[in-house]
Amino acid sequence: MDTRAHRRRHAVLVPCPFQGHISPMLQLGTILQSKGFSIIVVHTKFNSPNSSDHPEFVFQSIPDGLSSQEIVSGNLLEIILALNQNCKIPFQECLPRIMARKDSDGEINCIIYDELMYFSEAVANQLKVPSIVLRTISAAACTARVAILQLKAKGSIPFPDSVSKELVPELDPLRFKDLPISRSGVPDNFLHLVACAYNIKTSSAVIWNTMDCLEESLLLKQRQKQLPVPIFAIGPMHKFAPVCSSSLLKEDTSYIPWLNKQKPKSVLYISLGSLASIDETELAEMVWGLTNSKQRFLWVIRPGSISGSEWIGLLPEGFVESVGERGFIVKWTLQREVLAHPAIGGFWSHCGWNSALESISEGIPMICRPCFGDQMVTARYVSHVWRTGLILENKLERKEIESAVRRLMIDKEGEEMRQRAADLKEKVEVCFKKGGSSYNFLDRLVEFMSHL
Ligand code: UDP
Repeated sequence: MDTRAHRRRHAVLVPCPFQGHISPMLQLGTILQSKGFSIIVVHTKFNSPNSSDHPEFVFQSIPDGLSSQEIVSGNLLEIILALNQNCKIPFQECLPRIMARKDSDGEINCIIYDELMYFSEAVANQLKVPSIVLRTISAAACTARVAILQLKAKGSIPFPDSVSKELVPELDPLRFKDLPISRSGVPDNFLHLVACAYNIKTSSAVIWNTMDCLEESLLLKQRQKQLPVPIFAIGPMHKFAPVCSSSLLKEDTSYIPWLNKQKPKSVLYISLGSLASIDETELAEMVWGLTNSKQRFLWVIRPGSISGSEWIGLLPEGFVESVGERGFIVKWTLQREVLAHPAIGGFWSHCGWNSALESISEGIPMICRPCFGDQMVTARYVSHVWRTGLILENKLERKEIESAVRRLMIDKEGEEMRQRAADLKEKVEVCFKKGGSSYNFLDRLVEFMSHL
């Protein structure tokens, strides 16, 4: 008799400590747990997930060595590089302790780590535990990040303004300006991060929070060209793990009675995710653009997301009072539930990959206002490939905002985008329902993990 088959299978998850990374990793944990795995989440002290949201998981914290200066700086690149330096030894030391736990049968089936926490691969290899990478961005954004290494080597980066609107060879529909780098060029430590995160040496597979109906040809290219290991595209993972909460910020539900009173598809939901911010001038333009559009809105203003203010202190005087019943401002929502609400007719989004997936899954058309990194790639795909949204890419200006909001919410153009978004939603449903590509990939992943 194979005693292994009778042991509980343990998966160790290593999320990267940012909201857009923690959520898909915990969703994956919920999915795997429903398939018979027990889940151990090894996390940093910085931005540690809320363990009470997941009493069914074991949470193990490791020291991350981040200084308060590093944390306050908000420099994501530096923080991620520091984590990869600092966490390797603590992780290495904590794994044997996990293995020695009475209830673990002494056996970790595999380590699943966020692509940005690549130190985990080396540790897993040293301890002879199989490892799997989780990619939490789109295949398009990943392809673009890898292409940056080649473009840099060829001397095509930094690029002059004159080519910024030109298509990048072999990355159609991406233009140079859509590449996930800043205008001023690409720092060496970014190149280092990309080289480390996308050069899989010993891991056994890649799990991807995307799906065939969005990115089949890109995934195929990845399989053919770049990745020597199996890829399991099981997105949108939140649809497989609907009850899973993972917010780092406290969710405020005060908007729900207001939203319940609104007419179907009449409200524009506005959120810039967990990291992006705007300055006072952009805020004022948004305020006037929204006001002049005369459309209803639910606006998430995350504390700290307006530079120079703790929360809404910089909103023009009288704005909140003048909005009255037409709008609602909130600190943090249950976004997935908001997007599924019948009153929502559009989403002004920074185009973080989770937000885009959540919007696409509910058939909500978007106003894309990308801020940095992979958001630019996603915005381009939303506006030019799936054609379920429009993009605001110039300096924020009230007239342009007013026009974009009206185009999306009430014009024929918006209606057509809404129809395409509804069609795409159906395709996404086919993917994650029984027999669909994500559903089948998930079955294959579980089978694969059972034999590691
Ligand atoms: N989110 C939320 N409530 C909010 C704003 C955002 O729950 O008020 C969630 C959203 O559903 C998404 C995540 O925060 O899952 C943000 O991830 P994303 O990849 O969109 O952007 P990031 O924050 O990484 O820039």
